Amino acid sequence: MPVIMTDSPTTPHAPRPIVAKFGGSSVADANQIRKIAAIVCADPRRRLVVVSAPGKRDAKDKKITDLLYLCHSLGEQGLDTSAPFAVIKERYLGIADQLGVTGAWEWLRDVQQQIAAGAEKDWVASRGEYLSARIIAAFLDAEFVDAADGIRFGPDGRFHPGESYGRLGARLALVPEGRIAVIPGFYGRDASGHIKCFSRGGSDVTGAVVARAAHAVIYENWTDVSGLLMADPRIVENPFPIEEITYREQRELSYMGATVLHDEAVFPVREAGIPIHIKNTNAPEDAGTRIVTERDSRSTAIVGVAGRKGFATLFTEKAMMNQERGYGRKVLEILESHGISYEHSPTSIDTLSVILTDEELDGKEAEVVAEIRRTVQPDRIEVQRDMAMLAVVGQGMIHRVGISARVFSALAVANVNIRMINQGSSELNIIIGVGTADYEKAVRAIYAALVEQN
Ligand code: ASP
Repeated sequence: MPVIMTDSPTTPHAPRPIVAKFGGSSVADANQIRKIAAIVCADPRRRLVVVSAPGKRDAKDKKITDLLYLCHSLGEQGLDTSAPFAVIKERYLGIADQLGVTGAWEWLRDVQQQIAAGAEKDWVASRGEYLSARIIAAFLDAEFVDAADGIRFGPDGRFHPGESYGRLGARLALVPEGRIAVIPGFYGRDASGHIKCFSRGGSDVTGAVVARAAHAVIYENWTDVSGLLMADPRIVENPFPIEEITYREQRELSYMGATVLHDEAVFPVREAGIPIHIKNTNAPEDAGTRIVTERDSRSTAIVGVAGRKGFATLFTEKAMMNQERGYGRKVLEILESHGISYEHSPTSIDTLSVILTDEELDGKEAEVVAEIRRTVQPDRIEVQRDMAMLAVVGQGMIHRVGISARVFSALAVANVNIRMINQGSSELNIIIGVGTADYEKAVRAIYAALVEQN
């Protein structure tokens, strides 16, 4: 019986491809697109290229996707769309012209006609990526593969992984060996055949889906920063980049605010063990950040510190609470019945606190407090606002003695009062609550302590 290798959808024996996804800033103008061409040509495995719509070139600029949404909403109200469309047109025609790509005029005319004919919102929004991919495919002399031919959304409106991987894999298998395919990000097709978009920033998800469907060896995500940093650069000056991080660590950091990737972009590749490599289109020689399943954490125990402001504590106290059955459940049920989701719930013998975001509590506080009072009759209940939460993240904490000691003594030296501590049972992170006013000071103190220990 012949042995058939199934690890590549393009040809049975070709090496597994690299998927290279380029974000809005990487396709913002012709010069950036030339950088893409150089990056793609530098490694023959970069056969699958996923692109965003052109983003901002400078602070005053508009993102193409925003202009498309604007066109749709003006059209819906029966208003004139010619001004925003003229900006879109000028942008693409300028790019195409500088790259020597012909045909853009016709593609734009079609889009304009469909908008005038009342095209649906997601169809209109998706044209940003569509036009980008058309122009870049022509420039690279590559094949344009429409995401709508492979990516599917189910009747519930959610991305349908099972169907998408199979369809997209089959479509990509038709691309001849040695040819590059360019795929527009951000959209697919729903159960009734209409174009449907992911949430904003969703081209990252497309890249991950393509990587999964094509059994890619790496999912490269090219952006305008050289990867994830150990701390927020708005707070810490020149923080070190993170060279390697696990999916779990990345999720913890990103949840606490350190994001470069769309949250949903991790799952398709994580499940298949495909590493993500975040790279900088403007500095391709920089190492970037590799997001992997496992890493050797002996040398780098902690990967970083991240945090957010805007948390509140709902504190309750009742003597002999530890002997009362169902106290915690009742409190949490009240939150649930108000549609409130919570973050942490530290307890002691006679107290139970719930940490939640201000956003969840706003407008519901008085009712929730009254209901808890009625239902579990605490001796004391109060809501403390003005809290920030920090997460110190790193799987190496399991093996290292004294990390918490360093973190807490650094906070003490910086004169930061700690309002809450929660070490996840996975020992992947330490969560610390501090007053909002102390937030920046706390991040700096912890960063300094971590850099020293790593
Ligand atoms: N262009 C879309 C947006 O602006 C998707 C993306 O860039 O990832 O959200």
